[in-house]
Amino acid sequence: PYAFAESPFSPRFATLPPRFFAHVPPTPLTTPQLVVWNSALARDLDLHPDAQAHAGIDDYLGGNRILENSLPLASVYCGHQFGVYVSQLGDGRAILIAELPDAHGQTQEIQLKGAGPTPWSRHADGRAVLRSSIREYLCSEAMHGLGIPTTRALALVASPTPVWRETRETAAVVTRVAPTFVRFGHFEYYSHHDEHEHLRTLTDWTIQHFYPECATAPSPALALLEAVIARTARMVAQWQAVGFCHGVMNTDNMSILGLTLDYGPFGFMDGFNARHICNHSDESGRYAYNQQPQVALWNLNALAQALLPLMDREAAIAALHGFQALFEEAFASQFQAKLGLTSWQDEDWTLLTDLLNLMHASRTDWTTFWRDLASVHDGRPLTTPLRDRFVDRDTFDAWLVTYQTRAGAQTGINPEDVATGMRAANPLYVLRNHLAETAIRMAQQGDFAEVKRLLDCLAQPFNERPEYASYAEPAPDWAADLSVSCSS
Ligand code: AMP
Ligand code: MG
Ligand code: MG
Repeated sequence: PYAFAESPFSPRFATLPPRFFAHVPPTPLTTPQLVVWNSALARDLDLHPDAQAHAGIDDYLGGNRILENSLPLASVYCGHQFGVYVSQLGDGRAILIAELPDAHGQTQEIQLKGAGPTPWSRHADGRAVLRSSIREYLCSEAMHGLGIPTTRALALVASPTPVWRETRETAAVVTRVAPTFVRFGHFEYYSHHDEHEHLRTLTDWTIQHFYPECATAPSPALALLEAVIARTARMVAQWQAVGFCHGVMNTDNMSILGLTLDYGPFGFMDGFNARHICNHSDESGRYAYNQQPQVALWNLNALAQALLPLMDREAAIAALHGFQALFEEAFASQFQAKLGLTSWQDEDWTLLTDLLNLMHASRTDWTTFWRDLASVHDGRPLTTPLRDRFVDRDTFDAWLVTYQTRAGAQTGINPEDVATGMRAANPLYVLRNHLAETAIRMAQQGDFAEVKRLLDCLAQPFNERPEYASYAEPAPDWAADLSVSCSS
């Protein structure tokens, strides 16, 4: 392992034409202090796992000091925000500072989010507040623990530098890690500005570095589109399975790698509401829980539209038509595992839909219900019987009989193994809003112990650990008043 200051900086992104980015140094903060460090990810990046081993790390990751040979950069993109085309966006507060080969033969971009203004900050300050930075850090790692593709968080740096939102808050910087942060919006940018050479260059670059298997297809651009459709469908199916709402599924927040990207007003559902809206600013519910698959397709449409100069229109349409089946297959596979079924049959859609309708009607706690459903198979005692989580208990009892008949008819697997399999598919711990909120309130007083405890727990969300019992509980009453908006 080597020290951060020795990181090689030869970002692949900088090989793109100068039009793609601007070299912009991070803006220094007052006394930046590394407050959270991800040793496991550091190890993966072949960096020394011990933060103390990295001389000057607070300054490097706070943006006060620039790595030798580094030419930090911010990139331009555009996108559709809440369905409306915005012709110019870009990294308004994120700056790429390094690129590292990881321990698995992949190369990872290292980006500082909240590192100060760039040419694409518009009228904003280029900063991120501590509150939203903690949420981003916690959720990236929670998603990773759940096995859901996501950008990662390596470090959190805090500073007393004031940042004004609704009130005075303080600045923080999250060090984000991903093979690339390229979004659908990057492709839209060159397409809508009629820079088709640049569009082709970006497409070739993306294929070369991230989708090499597409290079030999009859139409590499079409193969890329198909691959992104497949990855996005799978990612959203995984979101649905854990009750995750992204909150701002604008095309500039959609990763070309199918990673969960840009953690703002996201939320894990407590009580199940199919129409749950986690983003307080999303008045129409465009990004509600049950809209996410359709919105993903809408966004993929925007990507396809952008790529049209490079491919046959009919073929692009056919690829988009493939989304629904890919999503359903991924969704069925998620819920097959959640239900402890060894196969998925047509009737299982009815079984699932009936359950979801019951859960919706009762606002049944999503995470604990799924986790506890395994007890049906091995008789593990529950403090709250399953039926007591439903308003219409008789209908739930009837559902349960159907479910037990279905599951009981499976041959070649014993009930204990079904239960074990279900506990490996249904997490015990997710980043509930009130857990993040409690950790944030402590951090705002300078105490990051709760952030670290949560991170430790969420790294293994399927493993029951008595010391984290309280994290598995449904939300307390005060959580109902929490609201998250785009303010970050
Ligand atoms: P988001 O809603 O987080 O996806 O952000 C939309 C756009 O606004 C992106 O181009 C961001 O870089 C930019 N942005 C958001 N917050 C800030 C900020 N505080 N300073 C500068 N740019 C920002
Ligand atoms: Mg964004
Ligand atoms: Mg954001």
